[in-house]
Amino acid sequence: MAGAVTSIKDIDSSSPIVTARNVTKIYKRGSEPGLIGRILGRSEPPTVHAVDSVSLEISSGEIVGLAGSSGSGKSTLLHLLSGLEQPTAGTVSFQGTDLTTLSARERTRHRLENIGIVFQRFHLLDSLSARANVALPLVELGVPKSERRKRATELLERIGLEDRITHRPGELSGGEQQRVAIARALITDPALVIADEPTGELDTETGRTILEEFKQVAENRTIVLASHDQETLEICDRVIQLRDGAIANRRTQEIRP
Ligand code: ADP
Ligand code: MG
Repeated sequence: MAGAVTSIKDIDSSSPIVTARNVTKIYKRGSEPGLIGRILGRSEPPTVHAVDSVSLEISSGEIVGLAGSSGSGKSTLLHLLSGLEQPTAGTVSFQGTDLTTLSARERTRHRLENIGIVFQRFHLLDSLSARANVALPLVELGVPKSERRKRATELLERIGLEDRITHRPGELSGGEQQRVAIARALITDPALVIADEPTGELDTETGRTILEEFKQVAENRTIVLASHDQETLEICDRVIQLRDGAIANRRTQEIRP
């Protein structure tokens, strides 16, 4: 989105940026019975409710954590909130637009303009410099090259990588690679940043430093962060606990009908 950082600060912090209503994602399992099923002599159910009737509202500027053990539905819920995946049932709205009514092409555009994504495993292109990796989303948006370079350089400087601008990912440490990935997620000035286990590949100390930098560079943006690590979740304003695809601490998550 073209809006300047100041416009994000100006947004009424009480207005929801993302609203999910009874959102459900059902996946088909492979037809093979699982190990437990084989031991017990029966097959597992053919489907899995990865996310099961979740309702939540995320306000502008909030940092919300998704907690829960492996398989509890954190990644799937992030994908639904960002429009990367379509729910089986229920709706996800972004600033009042129901994402489930958009075509695949419109959702891709929406993601490009409004959402920044930080992955656990960085997902940088090995053949490109740090700066070119950061600038990549701007290529898709048709931003001219000189502007792309300028904005990517500025962001890399702000995240402390001013002497790594022309390095390739293979020449960077894990922490440096994740800082490049964070800069790439922020380059389009997205209103919402989602981060899936952003410290999962980093040692504790590096993870802590990167999170602080992430929070600073993201300024007052809305962040939804999935992690099973308690320390990582400490940067969040509130934490939603998932269990078997559903909100476990539902009492604190009630939303108005
Ligand atoms: P988490 O991120 O909390 O570990 P996930 O959202 O990745 O949880 O997974 C939730 C459940 O959905 C798990 O049982 C997982 O095996 C299942 N699942 C996730 N993605 C798929 C998929 N593409 N196809 C089938 N099952 C999936
Ligand atoms: Mg996950």
